Amino acid sequence: MTPTLAEVTRQLLMTYNRFPRKRLGQHFLIDPQVVVRIISAAELGPDDLVIEIGSGLGTVTAELAKNIHHLIAVEIDQELMNISKKVLEPLPNISFVNQDILKISLAELALGRHYKLVGNLPYYITSPIIEKILEGEEKPETAVVMTQKEVAERMVAGAGTKNYGSFSIFCQFYAEVKLNSLVSKSSFLPWPEVSSAVVVLKPYKTAKYPVKDIKVFFDLVHAAFQQRRKKLSNSLKPFGLTNSPVDLNRRPETVSIEEFAAIANSL
Ligand code: SAM
Repeated sequence: MTPTLAEVTRQLLMTYNRFPRKRLGQHFLIDPQVVVRIISAAELGPDDLVIEIGSGLGTVTAELAKNIHHLIAVEIDQELMNISKKVLEPLPNISFVNQDILKISLAELALGRHYKLVGNLPYYITSPIIEKILEGEEKPETAVVMTQKEVAERMVAGAGTKNYGSFSIFCQFYAEVKLNSLVSKSSFLPWPEVSSAVVVLKPYKTAKYPVKDIKVFFDLVHAAFQQRRKKLSNSLKPFGLTNSPVDLNRRPETVSIEEFAAIANSL
């Protein structure tokens, strides 16, 4: 009988006498149905180049690599990378990069080629990774990421909902963002303390919300949400708005991205 993903993971940890490192967010995916969902959400094809963030023991890596042309596995933990190298040796289309994802350039890794990004993310650095993906010069065609459920809900939240805030606007300013599916704690080994979700981001090739100055736009959004309960007229006072295209008696969570863009462009 073929061993399950959970058995393979346990066996690898035992064989190499390794304990998952909590501080590096090491929660290994052991639910094959979730792996299938990730692969299908990334719409992988035989010509694809994929960068995987946090390849861990390489169990997801193996499934991804079978479906594509080339995979670049980035992992900060050298021991895990060495284990995965041994396990994945029969697969010739994988390159291993033992680096901190926050310290390398995705564009340089991809060498100018189109690429997709997949990652069961280390949750302690979810926001900086998403920022890196969306603000980078060469963005991926698609990014399929596993995040904490609450973070996923903030990423996809629209105006007028309780989870809507500056991180929702940041993500949706740069990409079409969709919640693919929820993932329970029992899909990981060891169980994380929080539930998870798979999110799909498709960065816009041309700006969906044209703004004159991106910095001004995000400064305005941050200032508005810093005092969530206050009216815009209060929180945006330092911007000296004289002729706002949006009623400043409103609270920030009711204001759409288009409207924030209109305010920023009126400055
Ligand atoms: N992909 C594996 C899986 O699904 O079973 C592991 C996912 S685990 C949630 C996150 C992985 O990211 C861990 O292997 C961890 O060592 C790695 N990691 C943590 N911080 C990292 C960083 N700054 N750069 C690259 N990898 C990192």
